[in-house]
Amino acid sequence: MRFSNKVVIVTGGASGIGLAAARRFHAEGAAVVIADVQDELGQRAAAQLGEGRCVYRHTDVASWDDVQAMVATAEAEFGGLDILFNNAGVGCFAATPDLTPEEWRRVMAIDLDGVFYGCKAALPAMRKRGGGAIVNTASISGMAADFSFAAYNAAKAGVINYTRAVAIDHAHERIRANAVCPGPVDTPIIAGINEMQGVRQVWDKAVPMGRFARAEEIAAVVLFLASDDASYMTGAIVPVDGGVTAHTGQPDLPGMLGLR
Ligand code: NAD
Repeated sequence: MRFSNKVVIVTGGASGIGLAAARRFHAEGAAVVIADVQDELGQRAAAQLGEGRCVYRHTDVASWDDVQAMVATAEAEFGGLDILFNNAGVGCFAATPDLTPEEWRRVMAIDLDGVFYGCKAALPAMRKRGGGAIVNTASISGMAADFSFAAYNAAKAGVINYTRAVAIDHAHERIRANAVCPGPVDTPIIAGINEMQGVRQVWDKAVPMGRFARAEEIAAVVLFLASDDASYMTGAIVPVDGGVTAHTGQPDLPGMLGLR
C-alpha cells in the first residue's frame, strides 16, 4: 500500500501502459483520475476499479483547458494531487518527405505539449501539498532515433530534456520529475505495425531479451519512480527496454553463425 492517501492522475489511462499503471496505483491504495479521450474504455476502467477511489475525466492532453480541468477534477474529487503520470501519446509512422505539417503538429501537440500542459497544471496543486512526483512517458525513440518515426523521435527527445528541466527547477519544492523510456510494449499503439507480415519475429529478435514488454512491466517501474522508494531520484531517464539501448546495433554474430 505504497500509495494510501495519495491522489494520482494517469493520462492515457484508458489503455495499455496507462491502464496498467492506473490499476496498480489503485491496488496500492491511491485515488486515481483516469484521463483520456477514449471515453467508453476510460469509464469502464474507472467503474471496474471503483471503491469511490477512481474517476474518469475526458481529457485531450493537447488542450490546455482540458488539462487544467483534469487537475481541478483531482482536487474537487479527492482533495489534491500528489502524483502525475503524463503518459498519453500517439505514434506516427512516417519519414520527413511523407510527414505532413498537420501530422507533425498533432504528434507534437499530444506527445510534447501535453506533457508540458500536465506539468504546468499540476505544479501549483503539488506545491499546495508540499511536494509531489511526476513521471513522464518518453521512449527509447527519444534516446536514439527509429526509422520512419521522425515526429515521434523529436517529440520524445523533447520529453526527455523537458523532464530534466522540470526536475531541476522544482527540486527545491520537493517535486520530483523522472521519465521512463519503454522499448517495444504489447499495447494497441503499435498493433498496426505489429500485424505487418513477418515484422514481429524480426522485432522480437532485435530485443536482447527476445520479446516485447508487457504493459505491467513498464507500470512497475513507473510506480517505483512515483513512490517514496525513489525519494532521491529526480531528472532520471530510465530505459525499460529488455536491453535494446544497451546494444550498439551491430549484427548478432553468434546468432548469425549458429553458435547459440
Ligand atoms: P495505448 O495506445 O494503449 O495508450 C495510449 C493512450 O493515450 C490511449 O488510451 C489513447 O486514447 C490516449 N491518448 C491518445 N491521444 C490522447 C490525447 N490527445 N489526450 C488524451 N489521451 C490520449 O499505447 P501505450 O503503448 O500504452 O502508450 C502509452 C505511452 O507509451 C505513449 O506515450 C507511447 O508513446 C509510449 N510508448 C509506447 C511504446 C510501445 O511500444 N507500446 C514504446 C515506447 C513508448
